[in-house]
This record gives sequence, C-alpha cells and structure tokens, in this order.
Amino acid sequence: MNLRQFNSVLRQVFLLPVVALLVVAGALYLQIQNANATVNLIQDGDARISQAMLVSKLIVDEESGLRGYETTGDARFLQPFTEAESHVQNEIQNLDAMAGGEADLKHDLTDLHVSHQTWHDGFALPIIAQVRGGGKTEDVDLNLHGKVLMDAVRRDLNDIIHKAEDTRTRRIAQWHQQVHTMLLVLLFLALGMGILIGLFTRNRLHTVSVAYRTSLEILGHRAEELFQSEQRLRTTLESIGDGVITCDFAGRIQMMNPVARELTGWSQSEADGQPLEKVFHIVNETSRKTLETPVAKVKRLDRIVGMANHTVLVRKDGTELNIADSGAPIRDKNGEIVGIVLVFRDITMERKTQDALIANEKLAVAGRLAATIAHEIHNPLDSVSNLIYLMRNGATPEESRQFMDMAEQELARVTQISRAMLGLYRESKAPVVVDLKEMLQEILLLMERRFIELNVTVSTDMPQPVSVAAFPAELRQVFTNLITNAAEAASPGGQVKVSIKPQGAGAPQTTGAEATGQKMQAGATVTIADNGSGITAEVRPHLFQPFFTTKGERGTGLGLWVSRGIINKHGGTISLKSDTSQGTHGTVVSVFLATNPTINAGGD
Ligand code: ADP
Ligand code: MG
Repeated sequence: MNLRQFNSVLRQVFLLPVVALLVVAGALYLQIQNANATVNLIQDGDARISQAMLVSKLIVDEESGLRGYETTGDARFLQPFTEAESHVQNEIQNLDAMAGGEADLKHDLTDLHVSHQTWHDGFALPIIAQVRGGGKTEDVDLNLHGKVLMDAVRRDLNDIIHKAEDTRTRRIAQWHQQVHTMLLVLLFLALGMGILIGLFTRNRLHTVSVAYRTSLEILGHRAEELFQSEQRLRTTLESIGDGVITCDFAGRIQMMNPVARELTGWSQSEADGQPLEKVFHIVNETSRKTLETPVAKVKRLDRIVGMANHTVLVRKDGTELNIADSGAPIRDKNGEIVGIVLVFRDITMERKTQDALIANEKLAVAGRLAATIAHEIHNPLDSVSNLIYLMRNGATPEESRQFMDMAEQELARVTQISRAMLGLYRESKAPVVVDLKEMLQEILLLMERRFIELNVTVSTDMPQPVSVAAFPAELRQVFTNLITNAAEAASPGGQVKVSIKPQGAGAPQTTGAEATGQKMQAGATVTIADNGSGITAEVRPHLFQPFFTTKGERGTGLGLWVSRGIINKHGGTISLKSDTSQGTHGTVVSVFLATNPTINAGGD
C-alpha cells in the first residue's frame, strides 16, 4: 500500500460516518416533519373543538336568554339571546372556514346551520313576538316543539364535537405511532449504520494493518539483507589478498583491511581520520618524488584511476614496497563523489620475478647467439693464425706487410664482435644517446652467421643515423629478439628487411596500432619485416603473453613480452601486423621510439 492508497483509506474511514450521520439525520428530519404535520392537524382539531364549544356556548346563551325572557317577560333577560344571536352565524361560518376541504364536517355544519335557523325562526322569534305582545307562553305544545328543535340543534352540535374529538383522538394515536416509528427507525438506522461503519472501518483498518505488517516485514527483510551484504562485504574485505583503504571526500581514512594495515604498517586506530597521504605515502621509485595521492587523482579525473608504474610505498617504519594500485570513486545516488576506495598490492616479489625472467631471456638470447658468435670469432682468429703461419714460414717482407694488414683487419672484426657482445650486457645507469642505425648494424653483424645457418637474406633500409635517448643494452635485447623472430619465421630461404624511418614532431603516426592518428613526438620507427608464413589467428591473441612460444624447446616465449615491457618503459610503442594469405604472407613489427622520451623508470 502506498501513501496515496493509505490517504484514500483515511478519507473513506472519515467520510463514511459523516455520510451515515447525514442519512440518519435525513431520515429523522422526514420523521419529524411527519410528526410535526400530525401535531399541526391535532392543533387544527383542537381549534375546531374550541370553536364548536364557542358555538355551543352561544346557542346555550340564546336558549337560556330566551327561556329567562319567556318566564319573566322582562326584556333584560333577552340580552344574552340577542348578544349570542348576533354572533352565532358568524362563528358557525368561522367553524365552516376551519373545516377546509372536509366534506363530512361541512355537511354537519350545514345541518347545524339549518337546524339552528329552524329553531331560531320557527321557535325563538315567534316566542319573543308572543311575549312582546303580552301573549301566553305556557303553551306546552309550542314549548315541546321548541325543545324538539333545540334537541336537533344539540344533536348536530354534538355530532360535530364528537367527530372532532374522534379525529383528535385518532390523530394523537397517529402521532404516538409516528413517534414510536421514529424511535424505531432511529434505533435501527443507528444500529445499522453503527454496524456498517464498524464493519467498514474494520475492513479498511485490516487492509492498512496488513499493508503495515507487510512493509514491516519488507523493512525487516531489507535490514537483514543489508546486514548480510555488509557482513559479506566486510568478510570479503577482511579476507581479500589486496590492501583496501576507504576514505571520505576530504581524503581522511575511514577503513583499512588487514592487508592494508600490514602493508602500510599502520593500525586501524592509528590511521582513523588521518589524511591518506600520511598513511599511504607513495613516491616514484627512481625520482623519489612524492606522487599525487589516489584521492586527489580520482577527484581530478572523476573516474577510476590506475596508478603510475614504479610506485613505491614508504611504510610507517621507513621500509619500502613496490606496489601496484588503483583508486575508484564512491558515489552517492546523485552520482556525486562522497569518498574514494583505494586498492593496492605488494608487487615486490612480482617485480623480482619479472626481473629474473628478463634476465633469463637475456641469457637465452645470448646463449643462442653464443655458438654463432663463437664461429664469428673463430673465423677471423683462424685467418690470423694462418697469416702468422705464412709470415713465419718465409714470406717476403712485402707479403708480410700485406698479411699484417689482413690480420689487423681480422682482429678489428673480432674487436667489433666482442664490443657488440659486451653491449648486450653492459648497462648504463641513465639513458644515453643511442644511434639506432649503428646499433642495428652491430646486431646484424653479430647475427650474420645465424642468418647463414637459417638461410635467410637480410636487407636494410637505413639511410641516415638516427639518435634517441635510451638504455642501449635493453634496446639491443629488443631488436635482437625481433630480428631473430623474423629470421626464424622467414627460414629457410626467406627474406628479412630492417628499416628505420625518422619522424618529425607533430605528424600523425602512421605505424603502430596503439598510436595511429595521434600527434607524435619526434622520433623514429624501426620496422622489421619478414616474408615468413605469418601469424595464424589462433596464435595472435597469445602474442606478448609471457611463456607463449610455438618453438617448443628452442623458444622461451619471453621475447615479445620483454620487448614490450622495455619499449613501454622507453615511452615508445610496439605493434605487429601479420598476413597469412598466399603470396603476401609475412609479418611486420614496428617499434616507435621518441628522440627525447619520458623514461618511465630507472635501469634495472
Ligand atoms: P620465442 O621467440 O621464444 O618463441 P617470442 O615472445 O619472441 O618467443 O615470440 C612468441 C611467438 O610469437 C613465437 O613463438 C612465434 O610463434 C610468434 N612470432 C613472433 N614473431 C614472429 C614473426 N616475425 N613471424 C611469425 N611468428 C612470430
Ligand atoms: Mg623470440
């Protein structure tokens, strides 16, 4: 039940009694109207009776006045007669007016009028005339006749009074009946309405109480669910392997899970309400600069953020951990940020493993090259021994000089090879300016024998020297691996082409899937193309994954993965395009390196 329905129930419960009372009042009003009408009729009847009494009194006055006069002959006794006589007809007419439309009464009144007139004209007036004339009035017959006439008048009058009294009695009974009915109606209506209101209210209240109980249950259920979900969340946070810290909008710490406490070295009570940067103090591994806190970064970018690579967490006791972290905004239902949750983990071990893997790949590359390099060195040294042998065994001074020059050349080649070899291992602490052309030529030189073994032809397109700032040993490792991959793919009988294309600032980059169309810095793109069979769709998704190789025992599966790590570190991009169709098959790997890149971290 929603609020609207509830209000409607309230309205109904309020309105029904009002309506019921109105109905009762209406019924009562009708009943009272009826009773009032009856009372009016009774009053009319009363008025009629008293009017009839008045007429009766006047007639009695007439009769007794007449009798007094008859007996005494004194005119003074006749006064009541004359007085009454002047009124009686009027009063009968008044009574007639009161009869309204009652034909019966009218009939009786006509009778009365006639009988009175008969008495008056036929007895009273002759008697008076007789007395005035001094005549005898003791005439029994005449008096008897007068009595008969007066009896008729009396009968008529009595009829009228009796009928009026009967009507009155009937009406009073009717009134009693009406009052009785009224009481009954009132009683039944009150009872009926009471029951109706009671039942209705009960029904409505039942609905409300059911709805109330349901919402209580729902609330209880929700509270339980909330509790459980909170509990789940708490347990998850407690048992999660990553450090989790939640902060309010101002960046003050609210909660830290056990891993976060262990990694930072701060206890929950110590960290409570502290600014995040105090507890979660992060610096760049190389520059040692304090990094922007995830709180500030999330607020600035208004989204989930990953943290910069090579972040070091300085723990409470000053020890340091390599960490990877990310921050996410906590939003209210309007989407406003109300806090930040920070997730981080200790990647010190991961970093060590990674470093070990990189070193391993380096060794593997060197190992595979070792045999061919041994050949490279063996050949010139062999030549030198031969030349020395020739010189020792009677060569002319002219020949000796020539042999000497040749030996020098052979030794220069050995030196060159050994320098290239060293380059693979010697590493500088900071980036240095590297000539890509020179580096690639050195690598190709070292690999010459390997190309012969694999029976591939190598061509280059490196029109001019191109300098970039980089860690040379790392770039060497990348290119050695990429060229090896190309040569192995093209073998046997295929071709590998290595080219460098310098690139001015501002031009959109045309090679490299990751940066296509983007305004680029100045730099160079090195492409290594082969006409091998290409990379199949099944293999493609696994490229750049560590330990993925299709070469069995001969491969480590680390080459591309390490290469990408190194190129990313150099702020460059590496991308791979491959085609397996007949006739155009082959693979092109493009590496873009900026002239003055932002190097992501120091040397390993
Ligand atoms: P590895 O060379 O030790 O196998 P990489 O990481 O260098 O490891 O290469 C991984 C895989 O990628 C290779 O085994 C190969 O299947 C595929 N691959 C790399 N470069 C090429 C290429 N130029 N042509 C065809 N396949 C390639
Ligand atoms: Mg490889």
